[in-house]
Amino acid sequence: MTYQKSLNIPNSELPRLVVIGGGFAGIRLIKEVSDRDFQIVLIDRNNYHSFQPLLYQVATGGLEPDSIAYPLRKYVKRFGKLFFRLADVEKIDPEQKILYTSEGDLSYDYAVVATGARTNFFGNSQLEHFTVGMKSIPEALNLRSLILQNLEKAIVTLDPTKRQALMNFVIVGGGPTGVELSGALAELKKFVFRQEYHDLKMSDMQVFLIEGAPKLLGGMSEKASQKTLAMLTGMGVKVMLNCRINDYDGVKVELENANPIPSNNVIWAAGVKAAPVPGLEAAVHQPSGRLLTNAFSQVKGFDTCFALGDVALIEDDADYPRGHPQVAPAAIQQAELLAQNFKNLLQEKPLKPFKYRDKGSMATIGRKKAVVDISGLYFSGTFAWFVWLFVHLMSIVGFKNRLATLLQWFNNYLNFNSALRLIIRPYKRNI
Ligand SMILES: Cc1cc2nc3c(=O)[nH]c(=O)nc-3n(C[C@H](O)[C@H](O)[C@H](O)COP(=O)(O)OP(=O)(O)OC[C@H]3O[C@@H](n4cnc5c(N)ncnc54)[C@H](O)[C@@H]3O)c2cc1C
Repeated sequence: MTYQKSLNIPNSELPRLVVIGGGFAGIRLIKEVSDRDFQIVLIDRNNYHSFQPLLYQVATGGLEPDSIAYPLRKYVKRFGKLFFRLADVEKIDPEQKILYTSEGDLSYDYAVVATGARTNFFGNSQLEHFTVGMKSIPEALNLRSLILQNLEKAIVTLDPTKRQALMNFVIVGGGPTGVELSGALAELKKFVFRQEYHDLKMSDMQVFLIEGAPKLLGGMSEKASQKTLAMLTGMGVKVMLNCRINDYDGVKVELENANPIPSNNVIWAAGVKAAPVPGLEAAVHQPSGRLLTNAFSQVKGFDTCFALGDVALIEDDADYPRGHPQVAPAAIQQAELLAQNFKNLLQEKPLKPFKYRDKGSMATIGRKKAVVDISGLYFSGTFAWFVWLFVHLMSIVGFKNRLATLLQWFNNYLNFNSALRLIIRPYKRNI
């Protein structure tokens, strides 16, 4: 007997709007579009929304993973009679208007691709195999386990060379993720590991931050970049600018213009590549992988197919010829406008073009240390840190998650410590 896979969505009088991806763009869109106008179906390969900006805190044991994940079913039920399906969208046929998913096919009237981005290893399979990424909650948990396992191994390793490789942490990529992660590791070393691993010479633990460009935080002001460099260096992080990684075999990092670094811990934070659904290749921009859209988020050549957020590249904005920044505010703003444009579409009114409102950039380096650029203004230090905390706290989905995050931060602040350094799911790398 053959088993017929199906997403089991009932027929409806309303046009069917399928949103692929429950990230920042996807969840904002379904919040704004009315279930009176469309039969709305959200599909995601995970049953939760991830708040990626705080992944590094999960990786370094500062936050529980549950605090930055929100169940999509719980979210969807707030907005009326919407449908959620847990499935991987494998292909889209924009001519026939059909989606092929791991659980069955689904026809649509309008499809919105909001599938985000994945880690970009720039085609280097060796780096992909041996380094650890930090693009999802499972990856952040892997990293947490790796850090702790390797310190445990370092204690029982008698060979000093092998022990040093276990205690060298190399972070590749000096953007916000690399900066935040290296700062968090430096603080773990200072406030936590020194006490808890008294039988390990903690001065041997080294954190390296490798960046190919001449400055950290490339998207931020010169002042923010300089201050970040000074703060990280002051915290003991060895920042290597204008430095590129050539290769990594799991034990030794080969660099373009510097001595190799022995390390069993290489964390890849050097960029992302868009993750479009197969079937829209004609509209894919290379090398970014993003889907080219017009100012109304319509995918080039496919009028009933839209793209939002990290996966989209709006071509018509002269201020952003290489596309808008792949950050949460851009995804959210595009989703809000598309919801409005769906109303206009149904009422046969003209669509409004997208205009990005840059709300500024910020990064935290550690306790009471952050840099903020807003509307041409730059500030750093304790106030910047509180601004960073507030903005991130308010952006987390769900009151309970916000409260849990606030309580964990408060505890970490008071005690210089959290109790989340657990190897629940041991990390295994094939060496
Ligand atoms: C470590 C890290 C730190 C960051 N820090 C910041 C920050 O501080 N500030 C900031 O503004 N931005 C930050 N970003 C960027 C920000 O998270 C992204 O810009 C934002 O998530 C983009 O939203 P999106 O909706 O386009 O995609 P995402 O939020 O990535 O959502 C994509 C969704 O699509 C789903 N999906 C993908 N493919 C499929 C498929 N084929 N089938 C079914 N489901 C699929 C995924 O499961 C996911 O739920 C950070 C990103 C990372 C990785």
